[in-house]
Amino acid sequence: MSRTALLIEDNEQNAYLVKVLLEPHDYEVVSATNGLRGVELARTISPDLILLDIQLPTMDGYEVARLLRTIDSLRRVPIIAVTSYAMMGDREKALEAGCTGYIEKPINPETFVTEIEQFGILPPASEEPQ
Ligand code: MN
Repeated sequence: MSRTALLIEDNEQNAYLVKVLLEPHDYEVVSATNGLRGVELARTISPDLILLDIQLPTMDGYEVARLLRTIDSLRRVPIIAVTSYAMMGDREKALEAGCTGYIEKPINPETFVTEIEQFGILPPASEEPQ
């Protein structure tokens, strides 16, 4: 059973790469190119996983993460920051904003799926313990 990954990323090439890497692993990838649209989609589709770029137009990824965490239905969903910011403290900033984990760009196609799956992605709803 496929899982839904919401990708919030303004860079087309990165979005394409993530899609190509995740789809063979049974993820349906839904994309948004800005934070507001991402939050709106997250509410509607209740994704199993959110991949969040930090450098986004209008509203940065930290702000998006904080907003996502105010939505009750998304409280347990892993939010993984994907960012090229390499500065010290960014990891902490992402975690403080509500992200579950952090992956650095450039995306490594060899390790990407393994990296994201270590952040406790929920099983499909039908397999969750009652
Ligand atoms: Mn970006």
